[in-house]
Amino acid sequence: MGNSIDGFFNNYGGKYVAEVLRRPLDELQEAFTFYMKDQDFLEELEIIRRDYIGRETPLYFAPTATKLLGGAQIYIKLEGLANTGAHKINNAIGQCLLAKKMGKKRIIAETGAGQHGLATAAACAKLGLDCTVYMGEVDVRRQQPNVAAMELYGAKVHPVTSGSRTLKDAVNEAMRDWAANPDTTHYVLGSALGPAPFPDIVREFQSVIGREVERQCAERKIKIGAMVACCGGGSNSIGFFAPFVDKKEPRLIAAEAGGIGPGVGENASRMTGNASREGIMQGYKSRFLLDEDGQALPTRSISAGLDYCGIGPQLAALGNSGRIEFTSILDKEALDAVSFFAKNEGILFALESAHAGAAAIKIAKEVPSDQAIVINMSGRGDKDVFITSPVFRPAEWKEFLKAELDRLENNVDVHNQESKKVVK
Ligand SMILES: *Cc1c(COP(=O)(O)O)cnc(C)c1O
Repeated sequence: MGNSIDGFFNNYGGKYVAEVLRRPLDELQEAFTFYMKDQDFLEELEIIRRDYIGRETPLYFAPTATKLLGGAQIYIKLEGLANTGAHKINNAIGQCLLAKKMGKKRIIAETGAGQHGLATAAACAKLGLDCTVYMGEVDVRRQQPNVAAMELYGAKVHPVTSGSRTLKDAVNEAMRDWAANPDTTHYVLGSALGPAPFPDIVREFQSVIGREVERQCAERKIKIGAMVACCGGGSNSIGFFAPFVDKKEPRLIAAEAGGIGPGVGENASRMTGNASREGIMQGYKSRFLLDEDGQALPTRSISAGLDYCGIGPQLAALGNSGRIEFTSILDKEALDAVSFFAKNEGILFALESAHAGAAAIKIAKEVPSDQAIVINMSGRGDKDVFITSPVFRPAEWKEFLKAELDRLENNVDVHNQESKKVVK
């Protein structure tokens, strides 16, 4: 199952949108089909991938993890070394370059935790495009470091005050903007979901990850037994799995957020959870966490990137067919995986990616020792310092924040404390 058939992956996907969005979606489909066969476009994209994103990213053999886990050889695809720290830049650059070719001057995007907004803002700065990011007001307040970064890149961050004031409201607002300004504006959707053709477009731009892994493993004669990725909307996982989905091997494993447990509202397990239902939301049919009236349920995860209530249609279809195995990882297991790979390999996983790391730890012994488990480290963990520090070092972190606040409130110049003391 590579490309969709008329926007569908078996019975998932589609284009369930208001009439006004049909034309921009059709226009996008046409341009995408054209430019993905255009040599100039592909060469330009290739150069940006190499010089700006820093591709290809390394495939790292993890010797200590392999020894400690006592099963398969553990390899880690270091996608977190991509510029801006995660895989999201692959899609953002691809779509922004496509939009530029289409003659669009203005880019809009939705963002939850801010990672997709940040990648899009950076891509727009690099390509000279005007950028507006819709972000729920609640998220704006709790994700200030990413808001600051987006503004540094020159983007306008637009707080969304409707509904629950989080990600799904930001998506609605971005759709509204696009419907009102289709001629000047392109909407860069951030994961492998939404109305067709977005799931195909996002998978295509992210499949650079899987193609590199395939080539790197062939060159080094690595036999892959299993591939493991974390799964929020599904862009890093489907991009990583893409070259392999039509083959019988290797095992493909997607790790969802198990949060704090199996109860409703305690996780974001759209495939493995109790509240998993088929539904149509935000322009596509897939599996969602919904109540009996079809309303989105609240989700929970320590990783901001995995807590969306829906999953990309292609992943849901491949999950139903059994080609992709889904597993669910608890917050605590993800935190343990962050520690494990940091201490033993000197590699700091993002909390999202640590769900994949934890799943690999669990299945390491199921895969023979002459075969590899390849983990997609979708992002690096620097961004998580505000979440991991209160868990790993609660007292010291509180002390640090208090001192920082105190300095700000008393207007002490942190770089020049001695002279200030004298003035006081
Ligand atoms: C956003 C994000 C994810 C989840 O998104 P997908 O579309 O499922 O890939 C995973 N890892 C990182 C580092 C992210 O920033």
